[in-house]
Amino acid sequence: MSLKYTAARIPGKDLGQNFLVNGEVVHRILEAAQIQSYESVLEIGPGEGALTGELLERAGKLMAVEIDEALFNSLERKFANFQNLRLIREDILQISFSELARWASSPKLVVVANLPYYITSQVLLKLLDNRMFIDRAILMVQREVGRRITAAPGNKNYGMLSITVQLRTEPCILFDIPPECFRPKPKVHSSLLRLAFHDSPSVAIKNEKIFYSTVKAAFSMRRKMLKNSLRSLGGLTVNDLHTVGAKTGIDLCRRAETLSLEEFASLSNTIATFISLKTATAT
Ligand code: SAM
Repeated sequence: MSLKYTAARIPGKDLGQNFLVNGEVVHRILEAAQIQSYESVLEIGPGEGALTGELLERAGKLMAVEIDEALFNSLERKFANFQNLRLIREDILQISFSELARWASSPKLVVVANLPYYITSQVLLKLLDNRMFIDRAILMVQREVGRRITAAPGNKNYGMLSITVQLRTEPCILFDIPPECFRPKPKVHSSLLRLAFHDSPSVAIKNEKIFYSTVKAAFSMRRKMLKNSLRSLGGLTVNDLHTVGAKTGIDLCRRAETLSLEEFASLSNTIATFISLKTATAT
Protein backbone atom coordinates (compact mmCIF):
# COMPACT_ATOMS: atom_id res chain seq x y z
CA MET A 1 0.00 0.00 0.00
CA SER A 2 1.47 3.40 -0.98
CA LEU A 3 0.72 6.81 0.47
CA LYS A 4 0.24 9.91 -1.66
CA TYR A 5 2.81 12.69 -1.50
CA THR A 6 1.78 16.22 -0.80
CA ALA A 7 5.07 18.05 -1.27
CA ALA A 8 6.39 18.06 -4.84
CA ARG A 9 10.03 18.29 -3.96
CA ILE A 10 13.16 16.19 -4.11
CA PRO A 11 13.88 14.97 -0.58
CA GLY A 12 17.22 16.26 0.71
CA LYS A 13 19.70 13.53 1.50
CA ASP A 14 21.65 15.71 3.90
CA LEU A 15 18.68 15.97 6.29
CA GLY A 16 18.09 12.23 6.34
CA GLN A 17 14.85 12.65 4.40
CA ASN A 18 13.72 9.13 3.59
CA PHE A 19 9.95 9.34 3.78
CA LEU A 20 7.76 6.40 4.75
CA VAL A 21 5.60 5.35 1.83
CA ASN A 22 4.22 2.07 3.07
CA GLY A 23 0.86 2.27 4.79
CA GLU A 24 1.27 -1.13 6.43
CA VAL A 25 4.47 0.02 8.17
CA VAL A 26 2.75 3.24 9.30
CA HIS A 27 -0.02 1.09 10.78
CA ARG A 28 2.45 -1.18 12.59
CA ILE A 29 4.30 1.81 14.07
CA LEU A 30 1.04 3.20 15.44
CA GLU A 31 0.10 -0.20 16.87
CA ALA A 32 3.50 -0.37 18.56
CA ALA A 33 3.15 3.13 20.03
CA GLN A 34 -0.15 2.23 21.81
CA ILE A 35 -0.99 5.90 22.28
CA GLN A 36 -3.75 6.71 24.75
CA SER A 37 -6.04 9.70 24.23
CA TYR A 38 -4.69 11.50 27.33
CA GLU A 39 -1.05 11.18 26.24
CA SER A 40 1.18 13.84 24.70
CA VAL A 41 3.37 12.80 21.82
CA LEU A 42 6.57 14.30 20.46
CA GLU A 43 7.19 13.52 16.81
CA ILE A 44 10.74 14.15 15.63
CA GLY A 45 10.93 15.06 11.93
CA PRO A 46 7.30 14.77 10.72
CA GLY A 47 8.48 15.30 7.13
CA GLU A 48 5.53 14.97 4.76
CA GLY A 49 3.26 13.85 7.60
CA ALA A 50 3.09 10.08 7.00
CA LEU A 51 2.68 9.50 10.75
CA THR A 52 1.51 12.96 11.84
CA GLY A 53 -2.17 12.74 10.82
CA GLU A 54 -2.63 9.37 12.53
CA LEU A 55 -0.82 10.57 15.66
CA LEU A 56 -3.11 13.63 15.80
CA GLU A 57 -6.16 11.35 15.73
CA ARG A 58 -4.89 9.32 18.69
CA ALA A 59 -2.96 11.68 20.99
CA GLY A 60 -4.17 14.27 23.50
CA LYS A 61 -1.54 16.64 22.18
CA LEU A 62 1.12 16.35 19.50
CA MET A 63 4.32 18.35 19.32
CA ALA A 64 6.05 17.90 15.98
CA VAL A 65 9.56 19.28 15.45
CA GLU A 66 10.69 19.74 11.84
CA ILE A 67 13.86 21.54 10.77
CA ASP A 68 13.08 21.87 7.05
CA GLU A 69 11.29 25.13 6.24
CA ALA A 70 9.46 23.91 3.10
CA LEU A 71 8.19 20.79 4.87
CA PHE A 72 7.22 22.84 7.92
CA ASN A 73 5.17 25.26 5.77
CA SER A 74 3.46 22.41 3.98
CA LEU A 75 2.62 20.68 7.31
CA GLU A 76 1.21 23.94 8.65
CA ARG A 77 -1.23 24.14 5.76
CA LYS A 78 -2.10 20.45 5.82
CA PHE A 79 -2.91 20.28 9.55
CA ALA A 80 -4.23 23.82 10.08
CA ASN A 81 -7.50 22.55 11.59
CA PHE A 82 -5.99 20.53 14.42
CA GLN A 83 -6.11 22.34 17.79
CA ASN A 84 -4.05 19.63 19.52
CA LEU A 85 -1.01 20.15 17.26
CA ARG A 86 1.97 22.31 18.05
CA LEU A 87 4.28 22.45 15.03
CA ILE A 88 7.76 23.66 15.86
CA ARG A 89 10.29 24.66 13.25
CA GLU A 90 13.53 23.85 15.03
CA ASP A 91 16.50 21.51 15.21
CA ILE A 92 15.47 18.71 17.60
CA LEU A 93 18.93 18.88 19.17
CA GLN A 94 18.23 22.47 20.25
CA ILE A 95 14.79 21.79 21.74
CA SER A 96 14.15 22.33 25.45
CA PHE A 97 12.21 19.38 26.85
CA SER A 98 11.14 21.34 29.92
CA GLU A 99 9.40 23.82 27.56
CA LEU A 100 7.73 20.97 25.68
CA ALA A 101 6.59 19.49 28.98
CA ARG A 102 4.89 22.76 29.92
CA TRP A 103 2.55 22.47 26.92
CA ALA A 104 2.02 18.73 27.31
CA SER A 105 -1.23 17.23 28.60
CA SER A 106 0.42 14.25 30.33
CA PRO A 107 3.30 14.18 32.82
CA LYS A 108 5.49 12.23 30.39
CA LEU A 109 5.85 12.21 26.63
CA VAL A 110 5.70 9.41 24.11
CA VAL A 111 8.36 10.02 21.46
CA VAL A 112 7.63 8.73 17.96
CA ALA A 113 10.09 9.17 15.11
CA ASN A 114 11.30 7.86 11.83
CA LEU A 115 14.66 9.33 12.74
CA PRO A 116 16.95 11.24 10.40
CA TYR A 117 19.80 8.70 10.64
CA TYR A 118 22.62 11.26 10.42
CA ILE A 119 21.86 12.39 13.99
CA THR A 120 20.71 9.10 15.55
CA SER A 121 23.34 9.03 18.32
CA GLN A 122 22.87 12.68 19.24
CA VAL A 123 19.08 12.26 19.39
CA LEU A 124 19.42 9.14 21.55
CA LEU A 125 21.73 10.96 23.96
CA LYS A 126 19.34 13.92 24.06
CA LEU A 127 16.42 11.60 24.89
CA LEU A 128 18.45 9.86 27.60
CA ASP A 129 19.47 13.22 29.10
CA ASN A 130 15.79 14.22 29.16
CA ARG A 131 14.54 10.84 30.40
CA MET A 132 12.55 12.47 33.23
CA PHE A 133 10.15 13.82 30.58
CA ILE A 134 9.76 10.58 28.60
CA ASP A 135 7.71 7.44 29.16
CA ARG A 136 8.67 5.55 26.02
CA ALA A 137 10.08 6.07 22.54
CA ILE A 138 9.18 4.29 19.31
CA LEU A 139 12.01 4.97 16.91
CA MET A 140 12.91 3.95 13.39
CA VAL A 141 16.67 3.44 13.34
CA GLN A 142 19.24 1.92 11.03
CA ARG A 143 19.11 -1.88 11.53
CA GLU A 144 22.76 -2.10 12.67
CA VAL A 145 22.19 0.63 15.27
CA GLY A 146 19.16 -1.26 16.58
CA ARG A 147 21.28 -4.40 16.92
CA ARG A 148 23.98 -2.47 18.81
CA ILE A 149 21.47 -0.92 21.20
CA THR A 150 19.84 -4.24 22.12
CA ALA A 151 22.98 -6.43 22.08
CA ALA A 152 23.69 -8.67 25.09
CA PRO A 153 27.14 -9.41 26.57
CA GLY A 154 29.16 -11.78 24.40
CA ASN A 155 27.58 -10.46 21.20
CA LYS A 156 29.89 -8.70 18.72
CA ASN A 157 27.52 -5.71 18.65
CA TYR A 158 27.67 -5.22 22.44
CA GLY A 159 29.45 -2.02 23.42
CA MET A 160 29.25 1.52 24.77
CA LEU A 161 25.95 2.25 22.96
CA SER A 162 24.26 -0.92 24.32
CA ILE A 163 25.31 -0.07 27.86
CA THR A 164 24.43 3.63 27.64
CA VAL A 165 20.90 2.90 26.42
CA GLN A 166 20.30 -0.21 28.57
CA LEU A 167 21.27 1.67 31.73
CA ARG A 168 18.23 3.95 31.36
CA THR A 169 15.75 2.03 29.23
CA GLU A 170 14.58 -1.40 28.28
CA PRO A 171 15.18 -1.55 24.53
CA CYS A 172 13.47 -3.97 22.18
CA ILE A 173 13.52 -4.37 18.39
CA LEU A 174 9.95 -4.79 17.20
CA PHE A 175 10.53 -5.54 13.51
CA ASP A 176 12.81 -4.80 10.56
CA ILE A 177 11.84 -2.67 7.57
CA PRO A 178 13.35 -2.97 4.08
CA PRO A 179 14.53 0.07 2.04
CA GLU A 180 11.57 -0.30 -0.36
CA CYS A 181 9.24 1.14 2.28
CA PHE A 182 10.82 4.61 1.95
CA ARG A 183 11.21 7.27 -0.72
CA PRO A 184 13.95 7.69 -1.71
CA LYS A 185 15.15 4.19 -0.85
CA PRO A 186 17.93 4.39 1.75
CA LYS A 187 21.05 2.27 1.27
CA VAL A 188 20.48 0.60 4.62
CA HIS A 189 17.83 -1.56 6.25
CA SER A 190 15.87 -0.19 9.19
CA SER A 191 14.39 -1.48 12.44
CA LEU A 192 11.63 -0.24 14.69
CA LEU A 193 12.95 0.12 18.20
CA ARG A 194 10.96 0.53 21.41
CA LEU A 195 12.62 2.12 24.42
CA ALA A 196 10.76 1.87 27.74
CA PHE A 197 12.34 4.45 30.02
CA HIS A 198 13.12 3.47 33.63
CA ASP A 199 12.54 5.81 36.59
CA SER A 200 15.91 4.81 38.03
CA PRO A 201 18.98 3.20 36.42
CA SER A 202 18.68 -0.53 35.75
CA VAL A 203 21.73 -1.12 37.99
CA ALA A 204 22.89 0.86 41.04
CA ILE A 205 25.86 3.08 40.24
CA LYS A 206 27.70 5.29 42.74
CA ASN A 207 29.21 7.74 40.32
CA GLU A 208 27.87 8.13 36.77
CA LYS A 209 31.02 9.85 35.52
CA ILE A 210 33.26 7.05 36.76
CA PHE A 211 30.83 4.44 35.42
CA TYR A 212 31.05 5.87 31.88
CA SER A 213 34.84 6.36 32.13
CA THR A 214 35.18 2.70 33.14
CA VAL A 215 33.01 1.45 30.28
CA LYS A 216 34.78 3.75 27.80
CA ALA A 217 38.23 2.64 28.93
CA ALA A 218 37.21 -1.02 28.81
CA PHE A 219 35.85 -0.78 25.26
CA SER A 220 38.56 1.55 23.95
CA MET A 221 40.74 -1.54 23.67
CA ARG A 222 38.09 -4.14 22.97
CA ARG A 223 40.50 -6.99 22.32
CA LYS A 224 42.60 -6.37 25.43
CA MET A 225 42.09 -7.86 28.86
CA LEU A 226 40.45 -5.54 31.38
CA LYS A 227 43.58 -5.45 33.52
CA ASN A 228 45.30 -3.71 30.60
CA SER A 229 42.51 -1.55 29.19
CA LEU A 230 41.52 -0.19 32.63
CA ARG A 231 45.06 1.07 33.21
CA SER A 232 44.11 4.07 31.08
CA LEU A 233 41.78 5.16 33.93
CA GLY A 234 43.63 7.92 35.74
CA GLY A 235 45.84 6.88 38.62
CA LEU A 236 45.04 3.16 38.90
CA THR A 237 48.09 0.98 39.49
CA VAL A 238 48.49 -2.72 38.75
CA ASN A 239 48.04 -3.36 42.49
CA ASP A 240 44.87 -1.25 42.64
CA LEU A 241 43.39 -3.23 39.76
CA HIS A 242 44.35 -6.47 41.45
CA THR A 243 42.38 -5.38 44.53
CA VAL A 244 39.44 -4.24 42.37
CA GLY A 245 39.38 -7.71 40.78
CA ALA A 246 39.48 -9.42 44.18
CA LYS A 247 36.77 -7.19 45.70
CA THR A 248 34.34 -7.57 42.79
CA GLY A 249 35.11 -11.20 42.03
CA ILE A 250 35.51 -10.21 38.38
CA ASP A 251 38.41 -11.84 36.57
CA LEU A 252 40.25 -8.93 34.95
CA CYS A 253 41.69 -11.28 32.33
CA ARG A 254 38.24 -11.07 30.73
CA ARG A 255 37.43 -8.68 27.89
CA ALA A 256 34.94 -5.78 28.06
CA GLU A 257 32.44 -7.42 25.71
CA THR A 258 31.84 -10.30 28.17
CA LEU A 259 30.80 -8.11 31.11
CA SER A 260 27.14 -7.59 31.99
CA LEU A 261 25.72 -4.23 33.02
CA GLU A 262 25.68 -5.44 36.65
CA GLU A 263 29.37 -6.36 36.43
CA PHE A 264 30.27 -2.97 34.94
CA ALA A 265 28.35 -1.33 37.80
CA SER A 266 30.18 -3.42 40.39
CA LEU A 267 33.55 -2.70 38.75
CA SER A 268 32.96 1.04 38.51
CA ASN A 269 31.52 1.28 42.06
CA THR A 270 34.71 -0.30 43.43
CA ILE A 271 36.90 1.87 41.20
CA ALA A 272 34.94 4.92 42.44
CA THR A 273 35.91 4.05 46.04
CA PHE A 274 39.56 3.84 45.00
CA ILE A 275 39.51 7.08 43.11
CA SER A 276 37.79 8.96 45.97
CA LEU A 277 40.27 7.44 48.46
CA LYS A 278 43.19 8.60 46.30
CA THR A 279 41.69 12.07 45.91
CA ALA A 280 41.14 12.28 49.69
CA THR A 281 44.72 11.25 50.53
CA ALA A 282 46.17 13.59 47.87
CA THR A 283 44.48 16.66 49.45
N1 SAM B 1 8.35 11.23 9.64
C1 SAM B 1 8.49 11.30 8.21
C2 SAM B 1 8.23 9.95 7.60
O1 SAM B 1 8.27 8.96 8.33
O2 SAM B 1 8.01 9.89 6.38
C3 SAM B 1 9.89 11.81 7.80
C4 SAM B 1 11.04 11.01 8.33
S1 SAM B 1 12.60 11.44 7.60
C5 SAM B 1 13.48 9.97 7.84
C6 SAM B 1 13.38 12.51 8.81
C7 SAM B 1 12.74 13.88 8.97
O3 SAM B 1 13.48 14.57 9.97
C8 SAM B 1 12.78 14.76 7.74
O4 SAM B 1 11.53 15.36 7.57
C9 SAM B 1 13.84 15.82 8.05
O5 SAM B 1 13.64 17.05 7.41
C10 SAM B 1 13.71 15.92 9.55
N2 SAM B 1 14.93 16.38 10.23
C11 SAM B 1 16.22 16.18 9.86
N3 SAM B 1 17.06 16.71 10.75
C12 SAM B 1 16.30 17.25 11.74
C13 SAM B 1 16.60 17.95 12.94
N4 SAM B 1 17.86 18.18 13.31
N5 SAM B 1 15.57 18.38 13.71
C14 SAM B 1 14.27 18.15 13.33
N6 SAM B 1 13.94 17.50 12.20
C15 SAM B 1 14.92 17.04 11.40
